[in-house]
Amino acid sequence: MSTLLKAGEPVPVSELVTRVLARNPGMMTGPGTNSYLVGHREVAVIDPGPVDETHIEAILQATKGRIRWVLVTHTHLDHSPGAQLLIEKTGAELIAFEQPAEGFQDNTCQPSKPAQHRHTLETEEFSLTALHTPGHASNHLCYLLHAEAMLFTGDHIMQGSTVVIAPTDGNMTHYLDSLSDLKQESIDRLAPGHGHLIEDATKEIDKLISHRLMREQKVIEALKQLGKGDLPLLLKKVYDDVPIFLHPVAQLSLHAHLIRLAELGRVARQQNDWLLSE
Ligand SMILES: [Zn+2]
Repeated sequence: MSTLLKAGEPVPVSELVTRVLARNPGMMTGPGTNSYLVGHREVAVIDPGPVDETHIEAILQATKGRIRWVLVTHTHLDHSPGAQLLIEKTGAELIAFEQPAEGFQDNTCQPSKPAQHRHTLETEEFSLTALHTPGHASNHLCYLLHAEAMLFTGDHIMQGSTVVIAPTDGNMTHYLDSLSDLKQESIDRLAPGHGHLIEDATKEIDKLISHRLMREQKVIEALKQLGKGDLPLLLKKVYDDVPIFLHPVAQLSLHAHLIRLAELGRVARQQNDWLLSE
């Protein structure tokens, strides 16, 4: 068992990285959002979390005025809104992608520098490469800390729960492609936006891909049995192993699967119903 997740307390998770958990536990956030502090002499903060003075204060205390960069994985409301407060207090540079129009986005995120796929932030202590990983959100980035082969995954990979893919900003095909692409990188450990570190990166990524493909197969099986069905009907069959309280969010991912299957030419839509293509 790794160290306990307790809000506000800085926890070193490796030689270069400290984690501070934000005070926003919930159904979508698990124990809350993890803010990661990378480096000691000059610090990059990954995902400052929601606007919460207490959390930002905890980050400032832990870094003793050494924050130079604020990086965000994506502009969902539990990850990036704290950035503005943090850069006001530190003068740090905010590096992020612009927020997309769709989905529940943080409209306060104003990057001082746009993020770039494969751009590497080089410091005396570490180098950190941004990897565009669309799927959960179209502007999602993971960050690879080369010295420790550690990938900061934001909401691309979470520990303890399945990532929600909510159309139309969320896209299942992009999500699966982004997972596969990560297998080309040298990654040992995953540092998720929610939950504990995950030790065997390749095994976890393979598990996530097979899980989604299993779910996709269940969609096909359900349509074979039912002939056709709308989202609520398909949800009951395809997510029969998932607790009911998670069904409203599961329905978003189900929709993402159906859109992907339609793009692949395997299903078609008739008003609210979905059916297998001839
Ligand atoms: Zn998110």
